[in-house]
Amino acid sequence: MIIDQLRKAIKSPDSFNNIRGQMRTKKQLASALIMGRHVIIIGPPGVGKTTLAKNVAELLPTITLNDCDYHCSPSKPICPSCKVKAAKIRQVKGDERFVRIQGSPDLTVEDLIGDIDPEKALKHGPSSVLAFTPGKIFRANEGVLFFDELNRCPEKLQNALLQVLEEGVATIGSYHVDLPANFVFIGTMNPEESAATERLGDVFLDRFDTIHMTYPEALEIEKDIVLDKGEKLPVSFPEKLLEATLSFVRDLRDNKDIARKPSVRASLGLYERAQANAHLGGRTAVTSQDVLDAIISVLSHRIELRPAVKYLQTPEKFLGERWKRFTETNEAFEDAGGGDL
Ligand SMILES: [Zn+2]
Repeated sequence: MIIDQLRKAIKSPDSFNNIRGQMRTKKQLASALIMGRHVIIIGPPGVGKTTLAKNVAELLPTITLNDCDYHCSPSKPICPSCKVKAAKIRQVKGDERFVRIQGSPDLTVEDLIGDIDPEKALKHGPSSVLAFTPGKIFRANEGVLFFDELNRCPEKLQNALLQVLEEGVATIGSYHVDLPANFVFIGTMNPEESAATERLGDVFLDRFDTIHMTYPEALEIEKDIVLDKGEKLPVSFPEKLLEATLSFVRDLRDNKDIARKPSVRASLGLYERAQANAHLGGRTAVTSQDVLDAIISVLSHRIELRPAVKYLQTPEKFLGERWKRFTETNEAFEDAGGGDL
């Protein structure tokens, strides 16, 4: 069973080594998974929820499975065709045992669980290979089902998912289909309220443990991420200026006038675009003007001001003023000067 594999693989929270920092989150996740619990990671976009979930799959060992689309176990096949005749087997690595489902208001129960052709079901039975087309959830068998943005799914779908997780059964139309749920379930939820999100019901949430994940907890960690993941040009980025740039983004996250906060992708964007600006300007080192020249393009659409502020100021103007104030009080800008947007 997959729970035994997880217990062997997750020795400590440090086992999740694809994510820097986030010790609290890793500890919670490790403790939930080794008990076979279903989890929902709650956190804003761009903090590494997907990376963390993939990390779980990577920790799983290579195992022998049927060579079908649904990762059937040779001893316990679940897909219609393997049930009819034995398939070839193959070795499947941990990272191949990861299925991502993107939650959206358009996702249907048929997409998720499967579709039954009623005429053929009458003739051959509802779970026969001829009548039943398995949905995406079957592909997660023996692996990790990563369900991104659960709270964007219609309630009907949430209920179907719950039935599968709790009872190993799915109801499609008037048919009941056995769906032994041998997978690790990791859902995500964006805490920010928006028109496209559906509130997850209390009954639904009662079946999961929630784990919170947020922006990198320290400037040092965010700097490491940016230096590791960012594109590089042959220009130098003075360390103090880089730290100041990242501090600017981090300060915006604490700003009470901002409803949607800039993610790590914003930090990465400033890092890359400031280098590009220096390079295009024929310089070998990034200046604060290069950072400033990237701010509108990288940041203005990534933040959203609170309604009370939004009607008085555009994000562009807001960022310009924040930057001016920031550079006036930050020593990294002593020589370079603040500049204007
Ligand atoms: Zn199969």
